[in-house]
Amino acid sequence: MALRQIIKDGDETLRKKSREITEVTPRIQELIDDMIETMYANNGVGLAAPQVGVLRRLFVADVKDGSEPLVAINPRIISADGIQCDVEGCLSVPGKWGEVRRPQTITLAALDRQGKPYTMEAEGRLAVCICHETDHLDGVLFVDKVEGELFSE
Ligand code: ZN
Repeated sequence: MALRQIIKDGDETLRKKSREITEVTPRIQELIDDMIETMYANNGVGLAAPQVGVLRRLFVADVKDGSEPLVAINPRIISADGIQCDVEGCLSVPGKWGEVRRPQTITLAALDRQGKPYTMEAEGRLAVCICHETDHLDGVLFVDKVEGELFSE
């Protein structure tokens, strides 16, 4: 495993649309392990592949709720309900925070690290995180959606 460099806002890679993963190869497995390690090393709760310069539809997340890190390949949010507004930050936008409106509960459909399909429901912070990371795969950053002021630490 190896730490990957996190690219920052202003790099045009973050604004590109990522491609679907058609096969979970050993190279993708290695990327997943590296992304999990990189997320933890930077105290992040989520990390999307474009943030480490790889334009593939994949993210990892861990909102510190005691479960294993979530791996989502080709994620799709297939339903969303309710509204919550909470403060978000991003490892690619260091030191900046802002309030974003997100669904309260969502259903995620994705492939796991073995390429097996699953669906799961998420709410609260995990729902926010999944929406934030899925946005990265379409070149969208939370700063695009901030309501009111963007603030610094
Ligand atoms: Zn982010």
